Amino acid sequence: MKFVFLIVAVVATVLCEKSRYDNYRVYKIEIKNREQLDAMKYLADTSDSFNFWTQPLHFGSYELMVPPHKFSHFSEMVDNLNMQHELIIKNLQELHDKELPLNKRKADGVMDWEDYQSVETIHSWMDSLQVEFPTFVNVTTIGNSYEGRPMKLLKLSKKAGNRAIFVESHIHAREWIGSATSTWILNQLLRSNVSAVVDLANNIDWYFLPIANPDGYEYTRTNNRNWRKTRSKQSALCYGVDPNRNFGYNWMVPEEITGSTGSSVSPCSDVYSGPYNFSEPECYAIDRFLDAHRGIFDAYLALHSYDHSILYPYGNSRVPVPNDEVLKAVGDESARRLYEKHGIQYRVGNQVFILYEASGNSQDHAYGKYKIPISYTYEMRGSGSYGNFGFFLPPEFIIPNAEEMLEAFLGLVSKAREYGLLATA
Ligand SMILES: [Zn+2]
Repeated sequence: MKFVFLIVAVVATVLCEKSRYDNYRVYKIEIKNREQLDAMKYLADTSDSFNFWTQPLHFGSYELMVPPHKFSHFSEMVDNLNMQHELIIKNLQELHDKELPLNKRKADGVMDWEDYQSVETIHSWMDSLQVEFPTFVNVTTIGNSYEGRPMKLLKLSKKAGNRAIFVESHIHAREWIGSATSTWILNQLLRSNVSAVVDLANNIDWYFLPIANPDGYEYTRTNNRNWRKTRSKQSALCYGVDPNRNFGYNWMVPEEITGSTGSSVSPCSDVYSGPYNFSEPECYAIDRFLDAHRGIFDAYLALHSYDHSILYPYGNSRVPVPNDEVLKAVGDESARRLYEKHGIQYRVGNQVFILYEASGNSQDHAYGKYKIPISYTYEMRGSGSYGNFGFFLPPEFIIPNAEEMLEAFLGLVSKAREYGLLATA
């Protein structure tokens, strides 16, 4: 048995050379003037060594990953530009190692929230829920990813006539906290005895798509933990499209003041919008599903990391949308409830004001094309008073993050009902 395991291990090592990030540093840099911004934009567009965790589009603070062979280049650069900077992660590989199960606490394939789980474990757990709760849980496959993995969606419906919420998570491959959080909340909806949670489960229909980018997620587990995009082949050298820049509504439409789409036409970029809208089968599957279920959803919630914010449409415009006031009020209540749980303060507002431009994202598509009135992107934990981890939040934070997100959902629903949304049938 040991021998067989050894062979498997050797084969696995040969098949996939896993990227390592030994001694990679992450700096927080402050972009405060035009010269610094232009230099950082140029660096983001041209360097394949430096890696920005969010695209530098405006003045503000950004996290920049610096490989060991670029340490001196980085020091020169920040000196020349007189740019404020702070070392926040000393050795990125150490963070990645912390995410792995230390001692096999359980057999493979068993679902829990002590660790991040594989696509296969999450999908078979969803199937098991359908067996356990056959009267109100239904699991379907809404399409297949580029590499042929199923896009599994779970519907929870306890009675006819409920209004519905769509929860999309883990569309960005490296944002592991997404699927960990949505599955934890789903589990609470099925098993909690807390009356407010039971109310959510009984009086709302829930559609969970825990892993919206299964190829990308698997790739982060086997090859490169820092991967963001899908895995479709785009050119001889570059793979993947940013799926959250590939949706049809306002795809590649620039923001009116900055002229930025928040995406890129370069196939190698982390924010590549794709050769055309819905080039990615993952995004297309979501669109087809929403199209086939027009009019049932009052809310579309996309779970991402990391920023501690609740964003709403549009990602390419500062012009207030017709129900801006409702989105702000419901978002504020969601953030207030979230804060009460563990003291994490979220900001709430229009995507461009709060974070950055991002045309072709799912939140805008749900709102703009399918008129789903409450459409939010939650940027959850990553860096804060609990530590600086970025996309690589250690597993001990899964449950605290999920607990406060359940509160966020409770706050959202209670406030939305004041506006006649998500009303009990
Ligand atoms: Zn994201």
